Order: sequence, then structure tokens, then C-alpha cells
Amino acid sequence: MATTTSLLKSICIFFILFSIFTNQADSQSDECGADKSSCNDKAAALPLKIIAIASILVTSMIGVCAPLVTRSIPALHPDRNLFVIVKAFAAGIILATGFMHVLPDSFDMLSSSCLKDNPWHKFPFTGFVAMLSAIATLMVDSMATSIYSRKCNSGVINPEAADQERNQQAAERDQERPVASFGHVHGHTHSLEPKVATEVSQLLRYRVIAMVLELGIIVHSVVIGLSVGATNNTCTIKGLVAALCFHQMFEGMGLGGCILQAEYKLVKRLIMVFFFSVTTPFGIALGIALSKTYKENSPSSLITVGLLNASSAGLLIYMALVDLLSADFMGPKLQGSIKLQIKSYAAVLLGAGGMSLMAKWA
Ligand SMILES: [Zn+2]
Repeated sequence: MATTTSLLKSICIFFILFSIFTNQADSQSDECGADKSSCNDKAAALPLKIIAIASILVTSMIGVCAPLVTRSIPALHPDRNLFVIVKAFAAGIILATGFMHVLPDSFDMLSSSCLKDNPWHKFPFTGFVAMLSAIATLMVDSMATSIYSRKCNSGVINPEAADQERNQQAAERDQERPVASFGHVHGHTHSLEPKVATEVSQLLRYRVIAMVLELGIIVHSVVIGLSVGATNNTCTIKGLVAALCFHQMFEGMGLGGCILQAEYKLVKRLIMVFFFSVTTPFGIALGIALSKTYKENSPSSLITVGLLNASSAGLLIYMALVDLLSADFMGPKLQGSIKLQIKSYAAVLLGAGGMSLMAKWA
């Protein structure tokens, strides 16, 4: 417990805040100490933080629920075009979260002047860890899929019939592959398996994706909450809270789109909504608790959060590109219609652009 507290308390809060609110890069060199701004007022900052907890909680909920409540609209049935467009929009948000929020954060932290020159300024650790994390995500992705589909195939039919069917499938596969996997780099179509099994395994994939994405997003959400909770700077906190409300609402829409396609039952959906909504308020509360003991930036927390951010960036970027965007755009529905593809690309750009804009503030 003591180690976790000391780890968390030393998270480089002022570094994040100042890297956002000041444009002078060289002024960061002496930011390792405490904040000496004249705006520091602990008593005045606390009510603002309480307001922040409430407002961010509400806006996060609105954001993540927005795609989910639209489920009752007939136009958003999974077979309809609008559903595909909403998913593309959500994928754009997730992609921008990885590229524009989490990855730059990690670069900032790991290249901080508070860290020793050797090894931190001698090797691009952020890129390295993000790359490894993307490969690890691919590994988990491909192995889980192959194990699951094997289990699924042998579970449904008895072994002999399964063998027969497998041979038959292999024969069919040889004939059909060139057509069925046309232009598809990503091996997740399962288009040659029985239709029901395909749908079941596809749904399972969507569910895993939604859960992993939530985990990937959480790191960033907690860290930005911490930065609000630990600051006593009343000059910047108001603007920051407003920005975070939009930030969480938008990010919630991205996650909500992914939860939507996972077709969870109501209870599980509520759990995921709750889990996402409380992360930033939790970060703020944690920041308030730690701001009392907070003394200075510690290299160990910079390294921990920086590396955590780098691995979540790799995960988010891989998932957004491969599991969300490529899977949809190379899938039969969008391949069948150029018009729908263009609309979906507009949605991707809209989502990614909006989330990129948020990066200006948080
Ligand atoms: Zn952000």
C-alpha cells in the first residue's frame, strides 16, 4: 500500500499541466520542483474540484450512453448503414485517443528533464514500448481467436463428424478463399465457417475488444483526473474542467460505439458505463488525497506512468486500426458500397478530428 501511494503521489502532475498550458518548452526545465504560481489557493480550489467530479461524472455518462440509447432508434439496427457510420465515428475517436493523447503524453513524460539523461534521453522508450505493446496485442488477438475457434468447432460437433466437416471445409476454403478474402489483410472474417459459429465468434471478439479498449482508455482517464485533483492552481482549473468534460464525453462516445456492437446485456452494459464514468472522478479524488502529501515530481512515477501510457497507446492504435477500422472497411458490408465507404471515412475523420482538437486542452 505504501509503495502504491508513494508511486501515485509522485506522479508528475505539474509537468502535464504546464506542458499543456505553457508553450515555452525551455521553461519546463525547472518544473521539477513545486508549483510556485501566484494562483495557488488550496481552499478555493477544493470546491472547484468537487464540481469537477460531479460534472465530469455526468458528462462521461452522457457520452458513453449516447450511442447506447440510440439503439432504440430503428435506423441504428446492426444491419443498417447508420450503424456502420456510428461505429466508424467511434473508431476514429479511439484512434485519435491513441495517437493524439496517450502517445504524446508518454513522450512528454519519458523525455522529461526530471529524468536522468542515461538511459531515458538516449533511447526512444515510448516508441519501443508502444511497438512491443502493439505486437503483444496482435499475439493475444490471434492466439485467442485460434484457440476459441478450435474449441468452438470441436464443441459443437462430434470428433468424427468434425474431421469430416473440417476436410470438407478445407476443400471449400481452397476454392473460395481468393474471392472471400479479397483485399482482406486481417484474418478475422471466418467467412467460410458455418454462419452461426461465425456470428458467435464475431460477437465474442466484439466483447473482448470493448473490454480491452475500456482498459486501454482507463490509464489516460485516471491520469488526467489526477492532474486536476492534485493542482491548486485556481487560474487554470476552471478551463481544464470544462475541457475534461468535453474530453470524457467524446471519448465516452467512442467507447459507447464499441460497447454497442458488443451487444451486451443490460447489466453488463451498465457495469461498463459505470466503470468508464467513474475513472476520471476517481482520478480527481485520488489527486485531492495525494495533493496533501505532494512535494515534487519523482522520476519513478514519471517512468511508471510514461511506460503505462506507451503500452496503452500501442494497444489503442492497434485495436483502432486493425480490429475496428480495418475489420469494418475490409468487411463485406463496406466493400459492397463505395458510397457507404465515403460516408464512413467522413465519420472517421470527424471522430478523429474532434478528439485531436481535445488534445489541445487535455
Ligand atoms: Zn486526452
